[in-house]
Amino acid sequence: MTSETKRNWKPATSLVHGGTTRSPFGETSEALYLTQGFVYDTAEAAEARFKGEEPGFIYSRYANPTVDMFEKRMCELEGAEDARATASGMAAVSAALLCSVKAGDHVVAARALFGSCRWVVEKLMPQYGIETTLVDGTNLEEWENAVRPNTKLFFLESPTNPTLEVIDIAAVASIANRAGARLVVDNVFATPLQQKPLELGAHVVVYSATKHIDGQGRCLGGVILSDKQWIDDNLHDYFRHTGPSLSPFNAWTLLKGLETLPLRVKQQTESAGRIAGHLACHPAIERVIYPGRNDHPQADIIARQMKGGSTLICFDVKGGKKQAFSFLNALDIIRISNNLGDAKSLITHPATTTHKNLAEEARNDLGILGSTVRLSVGLEDADDLIEDIDRALATAA
Ligand SMILES: *Cc1c(COP(=O)(O)O)cnc(C)c1O
Repeated sequence: MTSETKRNWKPATSLVHGGTTRSPFGETSEALYLTQGFVYDTAEAAEARFKGEEPGFIYSRYANPTVDMFEKRMCELEGAEDARATASGMAAVSAALLCSVKAGDHVVAARALFGSCRWVVEKLMPQYGIETTLVDGTNLEEWENAVRPNTKLFFLESPTNPTLEVIDIAAVASIANRAGARLVVDNVFATPLQQKPLELGAHVVVYSATKHIDGQGRCLGGVILSDKQWIDDNLHDYFRHTGPSLSPFNAWTLLKGLETLPLRVKQQTESAGRIAGHLACHPAIERVIYPGRNDHPQADIIARQMKGGSTLICFDVKGGKKQAFSFLNALDIIRISNNLGDAKSLITHPATTTHKNLAEEARNDLGILGSTVRLSVGLEDADDLIEDIDRALATAA
C-alpha cells in the first residue's frame, strides 16, 4: 500500500490526489473495495486488530479503504482533522446532532432549515427529551436570548434552502463558544469551495454529498467533519453501532465527483450569476435572491464569509402560484425536480414540494410564497438556459 501525502496542495490538486491509497497493483484510479469485511491471517492478528493494537480494517460498517479515501480527501479540502462518511446527507445531519446530546440537553437551531433537518430538530429530538428552540438565524440577538444553562448545540445552514438567506457564521460561533455549546453547520448550499465554516469558528461541518460533491445525480451520500477529539468522544461509537455508513461503491463515485468539483462549481456559479442578473431585469419577475448580487439582504456578510456566489437562485414569478406553475410547465431544458447541485439544471416550487409540511405561516415567515421558485443551475450553456427561461416566462404570461 502507498498513500499520497499532502504537500500543501491547493484545493484542485487535493481533489484529484488527496487521500489516495494504492494497492500493490499500482492502479491509477482509486480502487473500489466492494467488501463487507476483512480476513485475518491468525486469531492473534484478529485479537490485536480488535484491541486497536494493530492498524487495519475490521468491518465496512466501521471503515472501508474506499470510504477512507473519500473521508481523507474531504478532510484535506475542508481543513478538518477527521471525518465520517454517511449513506446520505440526512444520516450525516442526524448523527452529528444526536451523537453528542442526551435527554435534558438543549439545542438552538435556525428556523430556515432543509425540511428533514427541521423535522429532526422540531419533532425527533423532543421525542427523546432533548429541548429545542428555533430562532431567526439572521438575528444574533435571538441566538443570544435562546441560550440556557443546558444548551449544548447550535445548528444552522447558510445560505439557507430555498430562500438563500445568509447567517453570520463567525458571530454565531462566538455566541456558541460563550455558551459552551458546539456549532454544527450544514454547508451544502455553499459547497466546501465557497465557504469554510471551520475557519469561521464552527466546530462541526456536515454535507449532503448527494448534491454538488456527486454533482451528476447518481448517488446519495453525506459526510461529517470535525476535530479528532470531538469525533473520538462523540461520533465514533455512535457511528459504529447505529450504522449510517456509506457504501464503498457510492464512496468511489463521490471520489470521482470530487475530481471535477472545482470546475463544475466555478462554471455553475458563473452561469447562475449571469442568469440572476438577467432575471433581475425581467418584467415578469418580482424578486431575485442571489448571494453574489449587491442587492442581496446580507451582501456584507457574504463578502466576509463566502469566496464566491451560489449555484442556486431563488426568485418570484409575478402572478403567484398559478403563474409559477405555468412557468415551470413551459420549461424545456430545465427540469422540475427537488434535487440540486446537479449537472442538469433543476427547478423546484418549494411551497408545494420540499416545504409542503410547514404550516403556511411558517412558510411565509421564511419568505416561501406561492410565487417562489428555486433554480439549481447546471452545466448547460447559460445562453440556452436564458433562452429556455425567457420562452417559458413568455408562454406563462
Ligand atoms: C439535500 C440536503 C440535505 C439532505 O441530504 P440527503 O443526501 O438528501 O439526505 C440536508 N441539508 C441540505 C441543506 C440539503 O440540501
